Amino acid sequence: MSLVEELIISSRREFIKQSGVILGILALPSLLRNFLNQNVMEDQRKFDVIIIGGSYSGLAAGMALGRALRKVLIIDSNLPCNRQTPFSHNFLTHDGSKPNEIAALAKQQVESYSSVKFIHGLATNGAKTEKGFEIGTDSGKTFIAKKLVFATGIKDVFPSIEGFAACWGISVLHCPYCHGYEVRNEATGILGNGDSGFELAMLISNWTNELSVFTNEKSAFTLEQTNKLKEHNIIVFENKIEKIDHSEGKIQQIVFKEGGEFPISVLYAPVPFVQHCTIPGVLGCEMNDAGYINTDSFQKTNIAGVYACGDNTTRIRTIANAVSMGTTAGMMLNKEIVLEEF
Ligand SMILES: Cc1cc2nc3c(=O)[nH]c(=O)nc-3n(C[C@H](O)[C@H](O)[C@H](O)COP(=O)(O)OP(=O)(O)OC[C@H]3O[C@@H](n4cnc5c(N)ncnc54)[C@H](O)[C@@H]3O)c2cc1C
Repeated sequence: MSLVEELIISSRREFIKQSGVILGILALPSLLRNFLNQNVMEDQRKFDVIIIGGSYSGLAAGMALGRALRKVLIIDSNLPCNRQTPFSHNFLTHDGSKPNEIAALAKQQVESYSSVKFIHGLATNGAKTEKGFEIGTDSGKTFIAKKLVFATGIKDVFPSIEGFAACWGISVLHCPYCHGYEVRNEATGILGNGDSGFELAMLISNWTNELSVFTNEKSAFTLEQTNKLKEHNIIVFENKIEKIDHSEGKIQQIVFKEGGEFPISVLYAPVPFVQHCTIPGVLGCEMNDAGYINTDSFQKTNIAGVYACGDNTTRIRTIANAVSMGTTAGMMLNKEIVLEEF
């Protein structure tokens, strides 16, 4: 090889070497960017606490945790159980407000804490991981957290009576403490039978003297209960109900299957329910015989790191109680993290 050829080859090698270094330097920011991006993405799906259910109870837990500087994700599918009721009562400072206005103001206040993120969506699955929990949503995203709060409420299961669902929360009522005052002294019915129907009749007689009981089947009242109901001029109808006639959810009359009808303007109807969210069951949370998630007085379930609050845990079904339980869950959960990490 001539000297000239050797010089050309060695300068080519030098050129390639130097270009490699330059390309390496040029590529560094993009590698760094990718690395940082991955970290940011990982960071965006990582939380101290995920709260599933962002209605009254979940938002109360979120506020307590946001004020404790915790990184919180609230996932909510926006189907609170009182969504059909025009006005909500018996919650101090909001007596007579529209339910969605109470929730909107609560959400606005909770979102003002910068460490709290709120997403609209359905949590579809959950699993225990080595360091905490993973929650998947209907959008296909997954999030991870050290702890979970279920503030998922319950789903009421309506009887197959035409008109019942349309009147729910408007003139078919679940609770006299929430709505009894507004319909006091009105012609009122009770859908119930046996001991629980009798107890409800006794309770509702506090708000009206114009009371009837619709058993929708053969009466299961004892002789003593039947006599007591008669004494208080409470009529018992054993007829099967065909439908509820109503105008925009306001009851006009009960129509019987075998013919005939009876005019009332309010019906109290305790209905069965199912848990709104199945994930607590999947994670192994214990349920009690009535179908509520078992918790201690700090809203802790039997599964370490999992809390539950609001309607999914109690038959005392009011916004005030849901908020109180949510606040307790948030405070106790924060304390748990502090004790673990200090
Ligand atoms: C018809 C009716 C009228 C009422 N009126 C009154 C009243 O006047 N005054 C009063 O104090 N109380 C009233 N209540 C009771 C009150 O509404 C409840 O106690 C309260 O809503 C309970 O709050 P919560 O947060 O536990 O559950 P909810 O308000 O039911 O909210 C549960 C939330 O969790 C979400 N969720 C469930 N599963 C998932 C999931 N997998 N992923 C994401 N989100 C999920 C739901 O979409 C919902 O937004 C009424 C109840 C009913 C049914």
